[in-house]
Amino acid sequence: MAGNQTLTLSGKRAIVTGAGRGIGRSIALALASAGADVAVTARTSAELDTLVAEIQAMGRRSLAMPCDVTDPEQVIQMASTLLEGLGGVDILINNAGNAGSHKFLNHSDELWHRMLAVNLTSVYYVSKAFAPKLVEQRYGRIITIASIASRAGGAYIAAYTAAKHGVLGLTRSLAVELLPHNITVNAICPGYVDTPMTDGNVSNISARTGMSEAQARETLTKSSPQRRLIEPEEVASIAVFLAQDSSRGITGQAINIDGGGLMS
Ligand code: NDP
Repeated sequence: MAGNQTLTLSGKRAIVTGAGRGIGRSIALALASAGADVAVTARTSAELDTLVAEIQAMGRRSLAMPCDVTDPEQVIQMASTLLEGLGGVDILINNAGNAGSHKFLNHSDELWHRMLAVNLTSVYYVSKAFAPKLVEQRYGRIITIASIASRAGGAYIAAYTAAKHGVLGLTRSLAVELLPHNITVNAICPGYVDTPMTDGNVSNISARTGMSEAQARETLTKSSPQRRLIEPEEVASIAVFLAQDSSRGITGQAINIDGGGLMS
């Protein structure tokens, strides 16, 4: 490519939550590769520091601020630091999240509240912290990593499913409310993606069922009509697409990426 001018996100400033590993890390690198300066957050500083160095090596500005996105005061501090460091924000990626599962009949209230806090309320806190700057700039892209669990229910994942359904409701309402400010708000709904979170799911299935880890992984793989896990880079390329100026007509939408499992 012949210089920054030809990159689709050249000059844009992006913030990615949950960027230390998995999907968030891939999105941060893909945004930088498309020309954006990228600030990143998660709780584990060491993973963020490695990522910042990689993004800077690509010739982009990058900085990190550790933060637990379930804590509203930490979110406000994080937003203030990253907005000052980047000088504003054009693209917000709400990616941080976590999966937990349990039978409903003896489901703990603690798991319920934890799933809603990390997968739904965090998106509210983070969007609320950055939206005033997007409104002030009269430009913005908010992209949330939801899930195929935003579209359909599943056994043992009541809390995760409820939270991820909620994220779509939040996406649609924000899309309407922020539309007059030239801000688009969209979600991406992946099926099983090959990340550390899915490695954790595989270990849980194996521990609970007595299957080997290879068999447990095969169970997840077979749940896709394409008989494979989605790669994090595939999710990242949709995020880059939605972040572009030329995607300005797309708002309030949720894009499935699950190998053809759900067609809605
Ligand atoms: P990973 O567990 O691999 O990575 C999650 C990232 O989020 C880490 O960087 C983690 O860092 C961060 N994070 C987790 N909790 C918090 C918190 N409380 N505060 C701040 N950061 C946090 O997950 P994936 O990459 O697989 O998932 C990313 C998103 O995609 C999630 O929202 C998930 O629900 C969604 N998704 C994933 C699918 C999959 O199959 N993997 C399928 C569909 C959706 P740290 O622990 O250091 O804070």
